[in-house]
Amino acid sequence: MTDLIKRILLGLGVALALVVVVLLVRTMTASSRQVPVTPQTVVVSDPDGAAQRLAEAVRFRTIASVDPAALDPAPFAAFHAWIQQTYPGLSGVLRPELVAGQSLLYTWKGLDPSLPPLLLLAHQDVVPVEESTLSDWEQPPFDGVVADGWIWGRGTMDDKVSLVGILEAVEALWRAGFQPQRTVLLAFGHDEEVAGAGARAMAALLKERGLRFQLILDEGLAVTHGIVPGLDQPAALIGLAEKGYLSLELVVAGQGGHSSMPPAHTAVGVLAEAITRLEAHPMPAHMDGPMSGMFAALGPEMGFPNKLVFSNLWLLGGVVRGKLEAGQSTNASIRTTTAVTMIQGGVKENVLPQEAIATVNFRILPGETIEDVLRHVESAVDDNRVTIRMRPGFRSEPPAVSSTTSPGWAVLERTVRQSFPDAVVAPGLSVGATDARAYAGLSDSIYRFSPLRLHKDTHDTGRLHGTNERISVANFTEAVQFYGQLITNAAGP
Ligand SMILES: [Zn+2]
Repeated sequence: MTDLIKRILLGLGVALALVVVVLLVRTMTASSRQVPVTPQTVVVSDPDGAAQRLAEAVRFRTIASVDPAALDPAPFAAFHAWIQQTYPGLSGVLRPELVAGQSLLYTWKGLDPSLPPLLLLAHQDVVPVEESTLSDWEQPPFDGVVADGWIWGRGTMDDKVSLVGILEAVEALWRAGFQPQRTVLLAFGHDEEVAGAGARAMAALLKERGLRFQLILDEGLAVTHGIVPGLDQPAALIGLAEKGYLSLELVVAGQGGHSSMPPAHTAVGVLAEAITRLEAHPMPAHMDGPMSGMFAALGPEMGFPNKLVFSNLWLLGGVVRGKLEAGQSTNASIRTTTAVTMIQGGVKENVLPQEAIATVNFRILPGETIEDVLRHVESAVDDNRVTIRMRPGFRSEPPAVSSTTSPGWAVLERTVRQSFPDAVVAPGLSVGATDARAYAGLSDSIYRFSPLRLHKDTHDTGRLHGTNERISVANFTEAVQFYGQLITNAAGP
């Protein structure tokens, strides 16, 4: 071996050893970011009574309707009457306002009007239950059964847990003589699952009244058990943002005519090629934004070797990205997703199609825009025979990412730590849509968190909008305590 080669090998060895040292030092010095908290002070005096009241709320079939004219208002009116009767203190002191027909807005006046108010959101409506799945339910979905420590039925997880949890917490605080320093508002939409018109109307009203909030909390992420890979403890994830929504149509015009003398490519063939190119070129992955905050919070809590990986994303970020891209739900949290959902074209087997249309649904990552998606699709398809147009109907830009340094974040983070002391708290990105997006601009601290424990081994995420939706009495008790503690922490003396 020549001296030169020896020196190169020695140099490489030293460099490698240095990298290993840096990796290890960063791993050892990655300290927990969990904030220290005092124990929770709010206690639910009658957990079984609260559970029965959530079960009663489930019996109102407050099912949302895509067509507002087809909405059956009777279950909503009956639900409102039930709230009035069951929570007399709240209904008396907080003066409900009916907005957009069925949405409910409550205001609990604070002693100090100079403080920015707190806004708690939940929705009254639930998704319907498919007739064919009825026999799979262990308890009928609208009977409101409490059995063996569980409250069963549609809405127990999404979102009557939050709505009744807030009502229980406010009524109990009021009975105990609590008077909020800052004003507390409650906004309960009636059509979150279909259009969110109720939330938009209430948000417009609040804007009109010139309100800006310290903190806005809606449903969203939850306390996950066994769902975050590499983490042994439960993770209480707080959504800082949600994704935007866009549907595009790819349209190809054909010449028509008889299929006995076809061109090399029909409109359907050209469209198929365009779809193939689009699927082969997804929007880029991004590891920054809410996800980087999540890695920073969860990494130090993990065991070796995951802790080493998350403490050294400067070197190993590519490995993590590959893992995230491999799973459908994790992939959705790091990029704008592309889903070709509908296709139409042609009318008869022996007639050349005059038109072929594909519908593509995008869920846009915060930081990107509808315009970015359009430009990406144009360059990926790259075929002037394909027209790209917006599909009429709903679309939304992704909302701004909420702060993790604001007073609103601090009070929520502290409250979640107090209410779920076994869990690690971290920011995250909510992949589903919520009413919260209607309130964009009313606060820099808009968060999406449901006080709900989701266990991997009992397939709890599949129960949301699915069969056998349920919550344990113990978890509902935690939910009531959580809302009571949040109001106490945010609006107490
Ligand atoms: Zn919901």
